[in-house]
Amino acid sequence: MSQANPLAYLTEQLDEWRQAGTYQRLRVLESACEPVCRFDGREVINLASNNYLGLANHPKLVEAAIEATRKYGVGSGAVRTISGTMTLHIELEQRIAAFKNVEACVVFQSGFTANSGTVSAILGPEDFIVSDELNHASIIDGCRLSKAKIKIFPHRDAAEAERILAGLDGTPGRKLLITDGVFSMDGDIAPLKELVEIAERHGAIMMVDDAHASGVLGRNGRGTIDHYGLHGRVHIQVGTLSKAVGVLGGYVCGSRDLIDFLYHRGRPFLFSTSHPPAVAAACIAAFDLLESEPERIERLWENTRYFKENLRQAGLDTGSSETPITPIMVGDAALAFRFSDALFERGVLATGIGYPTVPRGKARVRTIVTAAHTREQLDRALEAIAAAARQVGLPAS
Ligand SMILES: *Cc1c(COP(=O)(O)O)cnc(C)c1O
Repeated sequence: MSQANPLAYLTEQLDEWRQAGTYQRLRVLESACEPVCRFDGREVINLASNNYLGLANHPKLVEAAIEATRKYGVGSGAVRTISGTMTLHIELEQRIAAFKNVEACVVFQSGFTANSGTVSAILGPEDFIVSDELNHASIIDGCRLSKAKIKIFPHRDAAEAERILAGLDGTPGRKLLITDGVFSMDGDIAPLKELVEIAERHGAIMMVDDAHASGVLGRNGRGTIDHYGLHGRVHIQVGTLSKAVGVLGGYVCGSRDLIDFLYHRGRPFLFSTSHPPAVAAACIAAFDLLESEPERIERLWENTRYFKENLRQAGLDTGSSETPITPIMVGDAALAFRFSDALFERGVLATGIGYPTVPRGKARVRTIVTAAHTREQLDRALEAIAAAARQVGLPAS
């Protein structure tokens, strides 16, 4: 008797995705992450990275990583709480805390673990989380791991967030109001001033995930809290070192006691090895550049304005974007993937994004320009986008 494969259902699901046109192959990057790079043997203009400031292969970061490696090796040897806290880790955390104008900072392995590890550590089953419906997956996972009761409010709907919190006034349990600063798939900005005021009125903890705002918004890229002038009013700020900073990691900023508490209860901090010295050293070099060369951020915004304006003139729908994250809204997921493929054939990498990353029927091709793109590269990309859009029948009208 032949043994049935207990994982056959995975194969069936994959076949279904292939037939629906939503099966995705991984594109393989064969060069450094630069404005023009080689994927799968083809030279393309890269509009699909989060390398906002072009720091991912900046000579100063590379030099810092090499020097740290020569001096301290390639691995830290342990989790932070056992013996894996190195001088460079502490130096980076102090650097970020000073930059963000907060008491303390802790770095996690990624932005994902910073969110999931923090939310799950500070709340329990008796508590409540009020969360924007488009918050990042790592926030959603952290909420679930905490076992707190989760109340979702419609995207950027501060009035509804307040209605939910008001309904919990007098109910025992802590309340956390949580939002992305910049939303990763739409590029719009949270109504942070309103949300902070609401949290204050109802005694809620306020937490912001600034993954896409760090290095992009605020003075020298200090994020949405700085952008809106809300210093001291957001209890927990999360950021990533993997996007504009160009390296890898996530951080949590707040009071000294919040950070001390996470040393004791943040599970990724306690149970997963700390960054190699090269990562910490490269991140420190990136903060040097954020402080000494803010013109990089100005260039990012100039490119963003130019690119968005031209997309709109081409009749394409860029949704509600207010930042360098600029979706080209398509609707149908299979169409989004066809559009992305047509772009690739024409020398542009921009990823099609469908369910579950965005809601069904809201598929899109997401573009992100960086400070490092030249005007000539942007013009070539815009031409390819217009031609590929015509080819697949966009804008549909
Ligand atoms: C990318 C992202 C993260 C995760 O950051 P990593 O450092 O890549 O793990 C968290 N939150 C948001 C909103 C993001 O866009």
